[in-house]
Order: sequence, then structure tokens, then C-alpha cells
Amino acid sequence: MAPFVMGHFANPSGSHSMARAARRALEEAREQVAALVGARPAEVVFTSGGTEADNLAVLGTLLAGGEGGPVKALCSAIEHAAVLEPLRAISDGRFARRAELAEIGVDEAAVIDIDQLSAALDDGVRLVSVMAANNEVGTVQPLAEVAGVVRGSAPAAVLHTDAVQAAGYLDLATVASGFDLVSLSAHKIGGPKGIGALIVRPPSSLQAILYGGGQEQERRSGTQNVAGAVGFGAAAAAQRSSRVQETSRLATLRDRFADMVLDLGGVTETVPRASTLPSHCHLLFDGLDHEELLVLFDRGGLCASGGASCASGALGASHVLKAMGLSDAAARSGIRFSLGHTTVPSEVERAVDVVSATLEALRGVRPR
Ligand code: PLP
Repeated sequence: MAPFVMGHFANPSGSHSMARAARRALEEAREQVAALVGARPAEVVFTSGGTEADNLAVLGTLLAGGEGGPVKALCSAIEHAAVLEPLRAISDGRFARRAELAEIGVDEAAVIDIDQLSAALDDGVRLVSVMAANNEVGTVQPLAEVAGVVRGSAPAAVLHTDAVQAAGYLDLATVASGFDLVSLSAHKIGGPKGIGALIVRPPSSLQAILYGGGQEQERRSGTQNVAGAVGFGAAAAAQRSSRVQETSRLATLRDRFADMVLDLGGVTETVPRASTLPSHCHLLFDGLDHEELLVLFDRGGLCASGGASCASGALGASHVLKAMGLSDAAARSGIRFSLGHTTVPSEVERAVDVVSATLEALRGVRPR
């Protein structure tokens, strides 16, 4: 990225030689990101991150086609706020067109209820959005099944998946192949923050939500973040070559961490780990509150989170845990531990020591 921050600062839309060099770097990055998802480079729309990609997918689909009566949209109840909030805004009448929104329930392991989804589908459904894997508990969703029922009962619906969390660990070229729109964010696969992409497969036609110079084939105006895109492309290429190995390395570390913490007693796994990304370990600490736990963990040098780590503000009970049927108190006892490409075995041991010391301090007894 450094040359494109320091020296090659030309605008990729220009026509002189420096601009052409920036354009080449941008297009190379586009190819690398496309390859991660099994898409064509022309299908990649660079955005400012996952949030913008989700907003473009939701609003761009539901607002396209101009006038007309209300349309229907379906999503899982555990989507990230970047999907849920634009959907709720358009269903609340904050845009010229209104969409009727149905949030489809999940089971106790956070897997979407396919029967409920099936029952909600009809010809009036314009958009179905189901994330590839949940950001809080890590549950991987049955995307092929989702695509199958949607194509069978609402063939005109646009299918969107927020693959922001999944992109580091799932083979999106396969699992998201039936989806028209796929959201990605660079910082979830080791790239920089502030850059992402929406994959837009034909024949989906989106209405732009940012207007201006017509960049990204009129789908997202604004001078592209060349350095960010170069970093995103490099991360995508690295991810493609290390995904399989990294997935099994992290699963081993995650399982070790989970087993050792469960052994301390008074802790339960929120969802079966076989159904989650290897980067996620979500645990419920019986009778304790996540805010207190997080403060003590942090003091011990263990950085964890209580809900979505990418939302700002105070922690409430997570909408994901509530959709899974947990009581408010149980939901407030939940902590998400995340592992990533920098995590090494000695850190897992240290993290367990911090959890053990914290439980001892809060419960007044030495964990077993
Ligand atoms: N979607 C999911 C599932 C996420 O986990 C996140 C954030 O981490 C986003 C969307 C938003 O992405 P960004 O932080 O790039 O805006």
C-alpha cells in the first residue's frame, strides 16, 4: 500500500501516466478480490467497507425500479446492523418507497429457520438477505439451502449475503455462488479498515446510493481508495492461499481455548462449535455480566467483546442471542472471544489464565 499513500497519489480516473499507474493497481486489486469470491472483476464494486456494501445491496435493490407500490424484503433476525438498519429504515417509511420487512427466526444454534423462510416467500419478495456466518456467535448459515428455496418460490428475488465475517474461512466461490450480491470488508481478512466491496452479479440492477462522478460503473461514485484497494487485494490473495491451512490451525487453537475454559466450570458454549467459523468462541458465564467480565479481562490483557465488536456505544443484550431464545440475563453473560491470523498457542494459554483469574475474583472461589 505504501507507494500509493506516499508517492503514487494520482487519481485513478485521470488520463495521464501517473493516473494510469494508479488505475492499473486498482484493477489488479479488483481481480484479486474477484478471485476470492469466484466473481468477474467487472462485478466488484469497491466501497468504503462492509457497512456501505450492505447498505448498497439493501437500498440499491429495494429502491431500484423507481415508482411502484411497496415491495417485500426478508432477512434473518441475526443480520448485522448494517443490513438490519437500512431494512428497518425503508420499512419505517424513511424513503420514498416502503418495503414490508419480515425478519426470519433462527434456532437455538443461530441457524436460520428454512421452513419459516419458505413460508414467507412469494412473488412479491424483492430481496432476501442472509449472512454467510454470524459475526457474534460465528454460526455458518446454510446458504445453498437458502438459495434453493428462494429460487424455487420467489425466482425474481435478489439474493444478498453479508460474507464479511465468513470471507476469511469459507470458500465463497462455492458457498456464495448462488447469490446475486455478496458484501465483503477488507479488515476482516487482514486488510486495511475503510475499504470493502459489493459483488454485483448480473442480472441484478442496483440503484446507486452515492451520486457524483460515476466511478465503479455508475454504481458507486467517489474517487477510489487506491491504497486501500491494493491492501484489500493483497489480503484477498494471501487469504486464498492460506485459507485451508489457517482454518484448521485456528480450529485447533479455538478448541483448545474452549475446552480449557469450559473445564473451569460455570461456563457453557453458546452454540455447538462444529457449526461455527474457527475464529469464533462464544461462551456464557453463568450468573455473571459481560460488562464486568470485559473490564477484568481487559485489565489482564485479554481483549474480548460482548456483542458486535464493530458497533459503537454501550452494550445491551445482543439481538443475536435474544433471537436464539436466550433470556436477557443469559444474553448479558455472553462473551465473544476471537482468534485470528496473528494468534499463537502461547496466547491461548495466557488467555485461559486471565479468564481463570477473573472467575476467581468474581466468584470468590478458585475455578476447578
Ligand atoms: N457485516 C458484518 C457481518 C460485520 O461483522 C461487520 C463489521 O465487522 C460489518 C458488516 C461492517 O463492516 P465494516 O466494519 O467494514 O463497515
